[in-house]
Amino acid sequence: MAFEGLDELYREVILDHFKSPRHHGKLLSHDVEQEGFNPLCGDQIIVQLKIDEGKVTNIGWWGKGCSISQASSSILTEEILGKTLQEVEHKIQFFKSMMQPQGEVSKNEEEGDLEALSGVRKFPVRIKCALLGWTTLEEAINLWKKIHNS
Ligand code: ZN
Repeated sequence: MAFEGLDELYREVILDHFKSPRHHGKLLSHDVEQEGFNPLCGDQIIVQLKIDEGKVTNIGWWGKGCSISQASSSILTEEILGKTLQEVEHKIQFFKSMMQPQGEVSKNEEEGDLEALSGVRKFPVRIKCALLGWTTLEEAINLWKKIHNS
C-alpha cells in the first residue's frame, strides 16, 4: 500500500473500512441516488439515501476505486446515519475544511474513524479520493432538496 508515512493507526482504520465497507450495497428503497466520479484516480461512488422527516434514515453505497475513496465512503455512512440534513451538511463542511492541506483541525471535532482520514492530507493527490463520497453525498442532498422544494 502506497501510504508510507501515514500513521499506522490511521492505515489500519482505512484498511478495515476498505476490506469491510459499512452500509455497502443497494437499498431496498431509496429517495435519492447520486453518482460521483474522480477522474484523477478513476474512483466511482454511487450513494443512495432514504430521508424521512428531515433525517437520513438509511444509506447505501457502492463503487470502485482506491482504498482511500472506498474507506472514506464507508466512514461517512457511520458519521451521518440517523442525523438531520442540517447536521449532515455541517458534517460535510467540517470534513471539507478538515481536508484542506493547510486546514486547521479542531481536535474536539475530530472523532473516531473520521480522524484517520485527516492523515490523507499529507498526500495532496489523494485528497480528492477522500472527498469523493462526501461531495457525492452533498450532491444527493441538494438533489433531494430540489425535488422536495426545501
Ligand atoms: Zn482514489
